[in-house]
Amino acid sequence: MPPKSRKRNKGKERKAKKEGKVELERVKANEIWQGWMNLKVGCLHGNDMVISNDHPVSKFMDEFFIHWDDRRDKGIEMILNDMLKTHSQVWTNNNHMELATQTFISIGVNLILVYDDVNKGALDIAKTITLLEHYDSSEGPGLSSSLYSRPAASKMRDIENGTISIKRDLLKFYRKRISCKCLKRMHLDARKTIPKMGRCAHCQAEKVRASLHVCSECMISQYCSKECQVAEIPVHESYCSIHRRYAFYQDLRLEIREIAPDDLQVRLEAEERLKIVHEALLGAAELHIEGKMKDKKIERLKEQIRMRDDIRGKLQSRRG
Ligand SMILES: [Zn+2]
Ligand SMILES: [Zn+2]
Ligand SMILES: [Zn+2]
Repeated sequence: MPPKSRKRNKGKERKAKKEGKVELERVKANEIWQGWMNLKVGCLHGNDMVISNDHPVSKFMDEFFIHWDDRRDKGIEMILNDMLKTHSQVWTNNNHMELATQTFISIGVNLILVYDDVNKGALDIAKTITLLEHYDSSEGPGLSSSLYSRPAASKMRDIENGTISIKRDLLKFYRKRISCKCLKRMHLDARKTIPKMGRCAHCQAEKVRASLHVCSECMISQYCSKECQVAEIPVHESYCSIHRRYAFYQDLRLEIREIAPDDLQVRLEAEERLKIVHEALLGAAELHIEGKMKDKKIERLKEQIRMRDDIRGKLQSRRG
Protein backbone atom coordinates (compact mmCIF):
# COMPACT_ATOMS: atom_id res chain seq x y z
CA MET A 1 0.00 0.00 0.00
CA PRO A 2 1.49 3.41 -0.91
CA PRO A 3 2.14 5.65 2.10
CA LYS A 4 -0.31 8.31 0.97
CA SER A 5 -3.33 6.03 0.97
CA ARG A 6 -2.17 4.46 4.19
CA LYS A 7 -2.25 7.93 5.69
CA ARG A 8 -5.69 8.49 4.27
CA ASN A 9 -6.85 5.20 5.75
CA LYS A 10 -5.48 6.20 9.13
CA GLY A 11 -7.52 9.40 8.88
CA LYS A 12 -10.62 7.44 7.97
CA GLU A 13 -10.03 5.09 10.86
CA ARG A 14 -9.71 7.99 13.27
CA LYS A 15 -12.89 9.55 11.90
CA ALA A 16 -14.77 6.27 12.15
CA LYS A 17 -13.46 5.79 15.67
CA LYS A 18 -14.64 9.28 16.62
CA GLU A 19 -18.06 8.72 15.05
CA GLY A 20 -18.27 5.36 16.80
CA LYS A 21 -17.51 7.07 20.10
CA VAL A 22 -20.19 9.72 19.54
CA GLU A 23 -22.70 7.02 18.62
CA LEU A 24 -21.76 5.02 21.70
CA GLU A 25 -22.29 8.10 23.87
CA ARG A 26 -25.68 8.64 22.28
CA VAL A 27 -26.72 5.02 22.82
CA LYS A 28 -25.58 5.20 26.43
CA ALA A 29 -27.50 8.44 27.00
CA ASN A 30 -30.57 6.93 25.33
CA GLU A 31 -30.41 3.91 27.61
CA ILE A 32 -30.17 6.15 30.67
CA TRP A 33 -33.23 8.28 30.03
CA GLN A 34 -35.34 5.52 28.45
CA GLY A 35 -34.43 3.41 31.47
CA TRP A 36 -35.69 6.08 33.89
CA MET A 37 -38.76 6.64 31.75
CA ASN A 38 -39.75 2.98 31.61
CA LEU A 39 -39.06 2.01 35.19
CA LYS A 40 -41.67 -0.37 36.47
CA VAL A 41 -43.17 1.88 39.11
CA GLY A 42 -46.65 0.66 38.16
CA CYS A 43 -47.79 3.96 36.68
CA LEU A 44 -47.04 6.15 33.66
CA HIS A 45 -48.14 9.29 35.58
CA GLY A 46 -50.62 10.18 32.85
CA ASN A 47 -47.91 10.23 30.18
CA ASP A 48 -48.65 7.42 27.74
CA MET A 49 -46.85 8.94 24.77
CA VAL A 50 -44.32 6.64 23.18
CA ILE A 51 -41.24 8.12 21.52
CA SER A 52 -39.49 6.10 18.83
CA ASN A 53 -35.70 6.33 18.69
CA ASP A 54 -35.66 8.38 15.49
CA HIS A 55 -38.15 10.97 16.78
CA PRO A 56 -36.68 14.50 17.05
CA VAL A 57 -37.62 14.58 20.75
CA SER A 58 -35.75 11.32 21.34
CA LYS A 59 -32.64 12.87 19.81
CA PHE A 60 -33.21 15.97 21.89
CA MET A 61 -33.35 13.83 25.05
CA ASP A 62 -30.23 11.89 23.98
CA GLU A 63 -28.22 15.07 23.62
CA PHE A 64 -29.46 16.45 26.90
CA PHE A 65 -28.43 13.31 28.74
CA ILE A 66 -25.02 13.15 27.04
CA HIS A 67 -24.22 16.56 28.52
CA TRP A 68 -26.08 15.98 31.76
CA ASP A 69 -24.03 12.88 32.40
CA ASP A 70 -20.88 14.91 31.84
CA ARG A 71 -21.95 18.21 33.33
CA ARG A 72 -18.98 19.00 35.56
CA ASP A 73 -18.49 22.41 34.02
CA LYS A 74 -21.91 23.01 32.53
CA GLY A 75 -25.12 24.16 34.15
CA ILE A 76 -28.56 23.12 32.89
CA GLU A 77 -29.03 26.58 31.38
CA MET A 78 -25.84 26.20 29.34
CA ILE A 79 -26.77 22.73 28.12
CA LEU A 80 -30.19 23.90 26.94
CA ASN A 81 -28.80 27.09 25.45
CA ASP A 82 -26.37 25.09 23.30
CA MET A 83 -29.21 22.79 22.25
CA LEU A 84 -31.25 25.73 20.90
CA LYS A 85 -29.15 25.63 17.76
CA THR A 86 -28.77 21.87 17.35
CA HIS A 87 -32.45 21.03 17.94
CA SER A 88 -34.34 24.06 16.67
CA GLN A 89 -37.09 21.85 15.20
CA VAL A 90 -38.02 20.75 18.74
CA TRP A 91 -37.89 24.24 20.27
CA THR A 92 -40.18 25.72 17.63
CA ASN A 93 -42.79 22.95 17.70
CA ASN A 94 -45.30 23.11 20.56
CA ASN A 95 -46.13 19.40 20.38
CA HIS A 96 -42.47 18.48 20.54
CA MET A 97 -41.89 20.84 23.45
CA GLU A 98 -44.81 19.32 25.32
CA LEU A 99 -43.59 15.81 24.65
CA ALA A 100 -40.09 16.67 25.89
CA THR A 101 -41.52 18.36 29.00
CA GLN A 102 -43.78 15.37 29.74
CA THR A 103 -40.84 13.03 29.36
CA PHE A 104 -38.75 15.04 31.81
CA ILE A 105 -41.67 15.08 34.25
CA SER A 106 -41.97 11.26 34.15
CA ILE A 107 -38.22 10.89 34.66
CA GLY A 108 -38.20 13.31 37.62
CA VAL A 109 -41.17 11.57 39.28
CA ASN A 110 -39.57 8.14 38.80
CA LEU A 111 -36.29 9.41 40.26
CA ILE A 112 -38.19 10.41 43.40
CA LEU A 113 -40.26 7.23 43.61
CA VAL A 114 -37.31 4.87 43.19
CA TYR A 115 -35.21 6.55 45.88
CA ASP A 116 -38.30 7.32 47.99
CA ASP A 117 -36.79 10.77 48.42
CA VAL A 118 -35.87 13.86 46.42
CA ASN A 119 -32.34 14.11 45.05
CA LYS A 120 -30.00 16.21 42.93
CA GLY A 121 -31.28 14.48 39.78
CA ALA A 122 -34.91 15.38 40.51
CA LEU A 123 -33.79 18.98 41.20
CA ASP A 124 -31.89 19.29 37.90
CA ILE A 125 -34.83 17.83 36.00
CA ALA A 126 -37.23 20.27 37.72
CA LYS A 127 -34.99 23.16 36.63
CA THR A 128 -35.00 21.80 33.09
CA ILE A 129 -38.81 21.51 33.10
CA THR A 130 -39.10 25.10 34.34
CA LEU A 131 -36.86 26.40 31.57
CA LEU A 132 -38.80 24.45 28.92
CA GLU A 133 -42.17 25.56 30.27
CA HIS A 134 -41.22 29.24 30.09
CA TYR A 135 -39.55 29.10 26.70
CA ASP A 136 -41.16 31.40 24.15
CA SER A 137 -40.06 30.71 20.59
CA SER A 138 -41.69 33.90 19.32
CA GLU A 139 -39.05 35.89 21.12
CA GLY A 140 -36.22 35.21 18.75
CA PRO A 141 -32.92 33.52 19.51
CA GLY A 142 -31.88 32.71 23.05
CA LEU A 143 -33.42 31.48 26.25
CA SER A 144 -34.30 34.97 27.50
CA SER A 145 -37.95 34.19 28.31
CA SER A 146 -36.85 31.16 30.35
CA LEU A 147 -34.11 33.06 32.15
CA TYR A 148 -35.41 36.58 32.64
CA SER A 149 -39.20 36.48 32.90
CA ARG A 150 -40.39 37.01 36.44
CA PRO A 151 -42.49 33.81 36.64
CA ALA A 152 -39.55 31.71 35.42
CA ALA A 153 -37.00 33.40 37.69
CA SER A 154 -39.28 33.17 40.74
CA LYS A 155 -39.92 29.49 40.09
CA MET A 156 -36.18 28.88 39.77
CA ARG A 157 -35.62 30.73 43.04
CA ASP A 158 -38.23 28.61 44.81
CA ILE A 159 -36.92 25.26 43.65
CA GLU A 160 -33.32 26.18 44.40
CA ASN A 161 -33.82 27.79 47.76
CA GLY A 162 -31.72 25.66 50.02
CA THR A 163 -31.80 22.34 51.77
CA ILE A 164 -34.49 22.47 54.43
CA SER A 165 -37.68 22.61 52.38
CA ILE A 166 -36.37 21.22 49.10
CA LYS A 167 -38.29 17.97 49.61
CA ARG A 168 -41.56 19.75 50.18
CA ASP A 169 -40.97 22.15 47.26
CA LEU A 170 -39.97 19.49 44.73
CA LEU A 171 -42.82 17.18 45.71
CA LYS A 172 -45.24 20.06 45.17
CA PHE A 173 -43.57 20.88 41.85
CA TYR A 174 -43.94 17.37 40.45
CA ARG A 175 -47.29 16.53 42.04
CA LYS A 176 -48.86 19.54 40.32
CA ARG A 177 -47.70 18.21 36.96
CA ILE A 178 -49.02 14.64 37.06
CA SER A 179 -52.60 13.39 36.87
CA CYS A 180 -52.04 10.31 39.10
CA LYS A 181 -51.69 10.07 42.89
CA CYS A 182 -48.11 8.69 42.93
CA LEU A 183 -46.64 11.57 44.98
CA LYS A 184 -49.71 12.41 47.06
CA ARG A 185 -48.73 10.60 50.25
CA MET A 186 -45.12 11.80 50.21
CA HIS A 187 -46.22 15.38 49.54
CA LEU A 188 -48.83 15.40 52.33
CA ASP A 189 -46.26 14.00 54.77
CA ALA A 190 -43.72 16.63 53.73
CA ARG A 191 -46.26 19.40 54.18
CA LYS A 192 -46.94 18.20 57.71
CA THR A 193 -43.30 17.93 58.75
CA ILE A 194 -41.38 20.55 56.72
CA PRO A 195 -41.98 24.32 56.93
CA LYS A 196 -42.05 26.44 53.77
CA MET A 197 -38.57 27.95 53.65
CA GLY A 198 -36.75 30.50 51.55
CA ARG A 199 -33.15 31.64 51.34
CA CYS A 200 -31.64 35.09 51.83
CA ALA A 201 -29.91 36.12 48.60
CA HIS A 202 -27.06 37.68 50.64
CA CYS A 203 -26.21 35.65 53.74
CA GLN A 204 -27.80 32.46 52.36
CA ALA A 205 -29.59 31.83 55.67
CA GLU A 206 -32.69 29.70 55.30
CA LYS A 207 -35.71 31.29 56.96
CA VAL A 208 -39.45 30.76 56.99
CA ARG A 209 -40.49 32.04 53.58
CA ALA A 210 -43.15 34.41 54.86
CA SER A 211 -40.56 36.24 56.99
CA LEU A 212 -38.34 37.14 54.02
CA HIS A 213 -38.91 40.32 52.07
CA VAL A 214 -38.58 40.55 48.36
CA CYS A 215 -36.74 43.22 46.34
CA SER A 216 -39.43 45.70 45.32
CA GLU A 217 -37.67 46.42 42.00
CA CYS A 218 -37.28 42.98 40.43
CA MET A 219 -39.71 41.17 42.78
CA ILE A 220 -37.46 38.11 42.68
CA SER A 221 -34.56 38.21 45.17
CA GLN A 222 -35.46 37.68 48.82
CA TYR A 223 -33.66 38.96 51.94
CA CYS A 224 -33.78 38.19 55.64
CA SER A 225 -33.07 41.79 56.67
CA LYS A 226 -32.62 45.35 55.44
CA GLU A 227 -28.88 45.02 56.23
CA CYS A 228 -28.53 42.01 53.97
CA GLN A 229 -30.40 43.74 51.18
CA VAL A 230 -28.15 46.82 51.37
CA ALA A 231 -24.98 44.73 51.57
CA GLU A 232 -26.01 42.83 48.44
CA ILE A 233 -26.69 45.91 46.29
CA PRO A 234 -23.34 45.93 44.40
CA VAL A 235 -23.85 42.29 43.38
CA HIS A 236 -27.61 42.42 42.94
CA GLU A 237 -27.80 45.55 40.80
CA SER A 238 -27.00 44.02 37.43
CA TYR A 239 -29.25 41.00 38.09
CA CYS A 240 -32.06 43.27 39.25
CA SER A 241 -31.67 45.56 36.28
CA ILE A 242 -31.86 42.86 33.64
CA HIS A 243 -35.02 41.37 35.17
CA ARG A 244 -36.64 44.78 35.51
CA ARG A 245 -35.82 45.60 31.92
CA TYR A 246 -37.13 42.29 30.76
CA ALA A 247 -40.44 42.93 32.55
CA PHE A 248 -40.62 46.32 30.85
CA TYR A 249 -40.03 44.67 27.48
CA GLN A 250 -42.73 42.07 28.16
CA ASP A 251 -45.25 44.77 29.10
CA LEU A 252 -44.58 46.46 25.79
CA ARG A 253 -45.10 43.24 23.87
CA LEU A 254 -48.45 42.67 25.58
CA GLU A 255 -49.45 46.21 24.85
CA ILE A 256 -48.72 45.79 21.15
CA ARG A 257 -50.90 42.70 21.06
CA GLU A 258 -53.71 44.56 22.77
CA ILE A 259 -53.56 47.67 20.63
CA ALA A 260 -53.16 45.90 17.31
CA PRO A 261 -54.43 42.35 17.65
CA ASP A 262 -55.51 41.97 14.01
CA ASP A 263 -53.40 44.35 11.99
CA LEU A 264 -50.43 42.18 11.08
CA GLN A 265 -48.54 44.98 9.33
CA VAL A 266 -48.75 47.27 12.34
CA ARG A 267 -47.72 44.45 14.61
CA LEU A 268 -44.75 43.44 12.51
CA GLU A 269 -43.54 47.02 12.42
CA ALA A 270 -43.96 47.41 16.15
CA GLU A 271 -42.32 44.04 16.85
CA GLU A 272 -39.40 45.09 14.67
CA ARG A 273 -38.90 48.23 16.75
CA LEU A 274 -39.41 46.22 19.90
CA LYS A 275 -36.45 44.06 18.94
CA ILE A 276 -34.29 47.18 19.09
CA VAL A 277 -35.66 47.95 22.55
CA HIS A 278 -34.94 44.35 23.59
CA GLU A 279 -31.36 44.61 22.46
CA ALA A 280 -30.99 47.96 24.18
CA LEU A 281 -32.28 46.40 27.40
CA LEU A 282 -29.89 43.47 27.31
CA GLY A 283 -27.08 45.78 26.23
CA ALA A 284 -27.83 48.04 29.16
CA ALA A 285 -27.58 45.06 31.48
CA GLU A 286 -24.17 44.28 30.04
CA LEU A 287 -23.03 47.84 30.62
CA HIS A 288 -24.22 47.38 34.17
CA ILE A 289 -22.06 44.35 34.63
CA GLU A 290 -19.09 46.30 33.34
CA GLY A 291 -19.85 48.97 35.94
CA LYS A 292 -20.41 51.77 33.46
CA MET A 293 -24.09 51.98 34.03
CA LYS A 294 -24.41 54.57 36.76
CA ASP A 295 -23.68 57.63 34.60
CA LYS A 296 -25.69 56.37 31.71
CA LYS A 297 -28.63 55.11 33.72
CA ILE A 298 -30.89 58.13 33.41
CA GLU A 299 -29.93 58.66 29.79
CA ARG A 300 -30.80 55.05 28.96
CA LEU A 301 -34.09 55.11 30.77
CA LYS A 302 -35.07 58.28 28.94
CA GLU A 303 -34.16 56.62 25.67
CA GLN A 304 -36.32 53.61 26.49
CA ILE A 305 -39.26 55.78 27.44
CA ARG A 306 -38.86 57.75 24.19
CA MET A 307 -38.88 54.51 22.21
CA ARG A 308 -41.90 53.23 24.07
CA ASP A 309 -43.85 56.45 23.49
CA ASP A 310 -42.83 56.36 19.87
CA ILE A 311 -44.21 52.83 19.45
CA ARG A 312 -47.41 53.74 21.25
CA GLY A 313 -47.86 56.90 19.21
CA LYS A 314 -47.38 55.07 15.93
CA LEU A 315 -49.78 52.30 16.90
CA GLN A 316 -52.46 54.76 17.99
CA SER A 317 -52.22 56.91 14.90
CA ARG A 318 -52.52 53.82 12.71
CA ARG A 319 -55.45 52.65 14.69
CA GLY A 320 -57.29 56.01 14.65
ZN1 LIG B 1 -48.15 7.90 38.67
ZN1 LIG C 1 -29.53 37.57 55.09
ZN1 LIG D 1 -34.02 43.28 42.64
